Amino acid sequence: MVKFLELAQFFERLEGTTSRLEMSQILYELFSKADKEEIDKVVYLTMGELVPSFRGLEFGVSEKLVMEALSKACGLKLSSVQKLYKDLGDVGKVALEVLKREGKGLSVSQVYEELYSIARAKGTLDKVMLLINLLRALSSVEAKFVVRIIVGNLRLGVGEATIIEALALLLGRREYKQMVERAYNLCSDLGLVAKTLAQKGLQGLAEFKIQPGYPIRMALAERVASAEELIRRLGRCAVEAKYDGFRLQIHKKGEEVYIYSRNLEPMTEMLPEIKQAITKIDADELIIEGEALAVNEQTGEFYPFQITIQRKRKYNIYEYSKEYPLKLFCFDLLYLNDEDYTTKAFIDRRKKLEDLITFGNTLELSELRIVQSAKEVEEFFEDAILRGLEGIMGKRLDAPYTAGSRNFNWVKLKRSYKGQLADTVDVVIVGYFYGRGARAELGIGALLTAVYDPSSDTFKTVSKVGSGFSEEEWISLKKMLDEIKLDHKHARVDSLITPDVWVEPKYVITVSADEITRSPLHTAGKTGDEPGYALRFPRAVGFVRLDKRPEDANTVEEILRMYQIQKRISVE
Ligand code: ATP
Repeated sequence: MVKFLELAQFFERLEGTTSRLEMSQILYELFSKADKEEIDKVVYLTMGELVPSFRGLEFGVSEKLVMEALSKACGLKLSSVQKLYKDLGDVGKVALEVLKREGKGLSVSQVYEELYSIARAKGTLDKVMLLINLLRALSSVEAKFVVRIIVGNLRLGVGEATIIEALALLLGRREYKQMVERAYNLCSDLGLVAKTLAQKGLQGLAEFKIQPGYPIRMALAERVASAEELIRRLGRCAVEAKYDGFRLQIHKKGEEVYIYSRNLEPMTEMLPEIKQAITKIDADELIIEGEALAVNEQTGEFYPFQITIQRKRKYNIYEYSKEYPLKLFCFDLLYLNDEDYTTKAFIDRRKKLEDLITFGNTLELSELRIVQSAKEVEEFFEDAILRGLEGIMGKRLDAPYTAGSRNFNWVKLKRSYKGQLADTVDVVIVGYFYGRGARAELGIGALLTAVYDPSSDTFKTVSKVGSGFSEEEWISLKKMLDEIKLDHKHARVDSLITPDVWVEPKYVITVSADEITRSPLHTAGKTGDEPGYALRFPRAVGFVRLDKRPEDANTVEEILRMYQIQKRISVE
């Protein structure tokens, strides 16, 4: 059994290292100490959560309320605690400063239960009371991490990949990593994976199955530059319309329906018409995927993405669902009545999907054609563009559904404009510069941005972005970034450039650029003395992408591929 104080000490060690190898060693030590009943809780808390994010459980406790609770728990005046927060800028540091107690030696499970009650409590008053009681039982170092978890800002720098590595070490060999990954891809719940591993060992992982109600990590597409390349890579294949809405994974379990976004956030309550349509499908248990978008019922035309995305909201959902009802274009079947479909060939999954989805107002099948020549692909593509779609998808007929992976089983071919990259790039903000001239007054003039490198679980810089935002947007950006600023480079950021302010890699923005160039300044794709890759003339499109996590940004490898595609296009 692990004491919460021990966990806090492990957290301190994690905070103190920037080496990923060391992090996985520390985590391995921590997980080895945890017993079967609590290892899932240890994993969730290390990730700064109580349950996986797809369960949608939020604390609903602001920094302000934490200050109130701290002031009551330590007997200091609220104004003094608030002043301290203003100076230190971190709730954890404030707790460390004001609480000077021994603590009652609570176990991880006890603190977990208390935190769970706080998250579940309905009213603010109840939440604060519960938090005060908990704080009174904690030492300062324990409280430091508890309050950070509550405000959603644990800052340990531990990514999913590092936890997976540590779990593989627990199995005794690094090679078992693939089995841990497989289980994680099927349930998106590292706590559950850890618990299975602790209780049932290797065999438990080998027998790990899909369960409706646990989202499967989504399969992603690679990009191709032309119809020729699509055929060269896939041979005879399926092409489908590429709809520009949001991707959904929908689970049906008896009468219950759960809907998850691309980011595996729960969206069920935001999509009443889709939920309703799914309950009518004749299947006990089912997992399908599709793209949802608003369609003009009179003309049959697709509304722009800006209209569809408005459905991501907490209030007035009913009104929106009447004004802009969504259609779901179903494109894949992953599970049906106790049978795992992810291992079957795409063409077989599709056939079964066609049996299940019968024509209706809300559910439709994605438009699909089987092709074998570049000419046929080109025709399908031109037609899709004419109808206002953003491009097409190509799918290998014999490929399984590769959960959690991006590969050439699926490819996307998008519209491209001359003098511009065919695709926008999603990058993570890792720091900002104060800026010059008029911008200096705003205190922010450019962002240092990075792409993700899954092999090292780090963020590598790719561009400075200084245009595309309005003045108001810069002001709100600065506010958002100041809340996550760091006094040093984040452990998972690899950069040769030092911005004026470092921030935690948290926010993703989409940028368009003219081209990708080689650059010695950036670390994306840099090997030895060779230069890295950078975006030329980048400009932000839209504001912060709250629907993407930093790990969902584009990867170094994708930047390399875009560079290759661009080289090929400029030769042709
Ligand atoms: P990604 O989802 O690949 O990380 P992204 O969100 O920028 O990147 P794109 O790269 O433009 O999206 O394209 C892939 C996405 O296209 C899928 O995730 C899905 O949401 C969407 N999509 C639209 N139509 C289809 C279809 N027929 N089959 C599969 N995906 C489709």
